[in-house]
Amino acid sequence: MHLGMSGSFRIKGEVAGRFHHARSRLSAHDHVVFRLGGTTITYNDPRRFGFMLLLPRAELADHPFFAHLGLEPLGNELSAASLAGLFRGKATSLKAALLDQRLIAGIGNIYACEALHRSGLSPFRAAGTMATKSGKPAVRAERLAQAVRAVLTEAVAAGGSSLRDHAQTNGELGYFQHTFRVYDREHAACPTPGCRGTVKRVAQNGRSTFFCPVCQT
Ligand SMILES: [Zn+2]
Repeated sequence: MHLGMSGSFRIKGEVAGRFHHARSRLSAHDHVVFRLGGTTITYNDPRRFGFMLLLPRAELADHPFFAHLGLEPLGNELSAASLAGLFRGKATSLKAALLDQRLIAGIGNIYACEALHRSGLSPFRAAGTMATKSGKPAVRAERLAQAVRAVLTEAVAAGGSSLRDHAQTNGELGYFQHTFRVYDREHAACPTPGCRGTVKRVAQNGRSTFFCPVCQT
């Protein structure tokens, strides 16, 4: 299922969660209704850019929408070894490699910045340094794999940073933005214990990179 620009699910019944934010309740825009036991899940989409595919699970990975996507960062595939394998020999920056959806699918700019800060790694470091010369995962690759997983897990638990309708809120997106360590915190003191650095923002590949030049090396 793809929500397009304006799609959302309305959930009625026992599974309705704390972070469910329906964008529209106008039933004129209800397009698909799922009934699961005592729960009704309604797909609503005023602009109708969303879409759904129904296909056997075994064919999913080869479908054109998925065939070029990298590994799932919250699945079991993400590890120091897989990072080393994916990034080995790459001279591109670590930040750019993390954002490359053909390598890992689903890490956006915010989470790349946050994961790099947690792992103490510079966004400008060559991605290839996640592997040793012999191709084994470097110790820092383990730190990065753990940081990516931790940041995404916490963000999901906090309702993400983008689950709410942009039009309804003044930048308030879920709750995870309250735990940002570097993202959107330019000039703030670095939150790493014992670090006396200040968060900096630079443009990197057309995106804002927030980082601490002192403890991220
Ligand atoms: Zn720092």
